[in-house]
Amino acid sequence: MPLLSLRQPSFTIMGGLLITPDRVIEGSLRATGGRIVALGERLTPAARDILVELDDDCVYPGLINAHDHLELNLFPNIGQGPYPNSYAWFDDVNRRRDDPAIARVLDVSINDRLRWGGYRCLFSGVTTVAHHNPYHARLFGNGFPTRVLRRYRWSHTLRLAGSYGGRAEEEFRKTRGVEPFIIHLAEGVDEVAAGELAELDRLGALQANTILVHGVGLTPGDRALLRARGASLVWCPSSNLFLFRRTADIPSLAGKVRMAVGTDSTLSGRPTLFDELRVADGLGYVDPTTLTGMVTTVPAAMFGLADRAGRLAEGYPADILILARTEADPYRNLIAATPASVRLVFLDGLPRFGDEKFAACFRRCGISFERVRVDGVIKLVAGRFHALLDRVRRSVDALPIRIG
Ligand SMILES: [Zn+2]
Repeated sequence: MPLLSLRQPSFTIMGGLLITPDRVIEGSLRATGGRIVALGERLTPAARDILVELDDDCVYPGLINAHDHLELNLFPNIGQGPYPNSYAWFDDVNRRRDDPAIARVLDVSINDRLRWGGYRCLFSGVTTVAHHNPYHARLFGNGFPTRVLRRYRWSHTLRLAGSYGGRAEEEFRKTRGVEPFIIHLAEGVDEVAAGELAELDRLGALQANTILVHGVGLTPGDRALLRARGASLVWCPSSNLFLFRRTADIPSLAGKVRMAVGTDSTLSGRPTLFDELRVADGLGYVDPTTLTGMVTTVPAAMFGLADRAGRLAEGYPADILILARTEADPYRNLIAATPASVRLVFLDGLPRFGDEKFAACFRRCGISFERVRVDGVIKLVAGRFHALLDRVRRSVDALPIRIG
């Protein structure tokens, strides 16, 4: 296995706080061949390990963004709410298609827009993203900046199926009750939104493998039904506030329904998952420890990745996010994070994004990288980011993330 050991060498992360995220350990973590092999308080690196030495930084599992549309993240927020439901917003966006702000983004090729979406995930420590649109196997499977959930079925909405994606009942049937089935649902505050969960249930598509996105308009009866069916919810608070000035009734759902946090796209959401976590925290519905679970262990369970993502544990892929410590509480530290405070991100045991001080780690792992100013700080980014940036900037001048 010489090739594997060259590409995914062994490394030991030392001197940080490990947030697993169920517990916090002051210790070290060792990975080899792309997998975590040990973590603990007294861990001795092997002789040939790459040493990743930290200054009291916090080490988290790579984050999971539970809802995104990767190709839609060069847009600014578009629309002027509040709207009664998402369909009214879609109509409004479609009326504005000739707007220069929209037309310029659409001039960028679909593959470049998808790649941009991958980098925006990476810049906020996301190593797995649930992309709500077709899976682009050739692009996502080959050096894409983040891992994209592979096994899923999706429907856009109950009303726009056909124009966007397949019909809920047909797509749900294809899951055979196993794969996750994801649909925007009850995205609004009127009777249209309030009627959608019952309709989904009538179609037989509300089961334990169903993942609803938004749920703003769920009624008390809906919430009980959601719980009874064991389905899950993805909460995208910044998008909900932008479109409707309110979000799902999280306090009524907390502890009863499995819930994760997702960004949605920048058409309606904030620039990064870190921003989204801050919006969620600002609403005061759930504490930072719970929010940390909502971007790690909980979405992993929802998407059938419980044994493969969302944890720092032996046998798990070495998907790792290291953040500078700016807060005493490590969970609040995650909420306070920005792309500038990302020290290093590993995906499958390989560095993808991080501080200049880790250049030797990139080199020893055989990862080519470029220097780029992200959020005001020079960072190392794996891959040919500048070429992408140049192509994007030919059309789009105001980027949602501060680059350069
Ligand atoms: Zn969405």
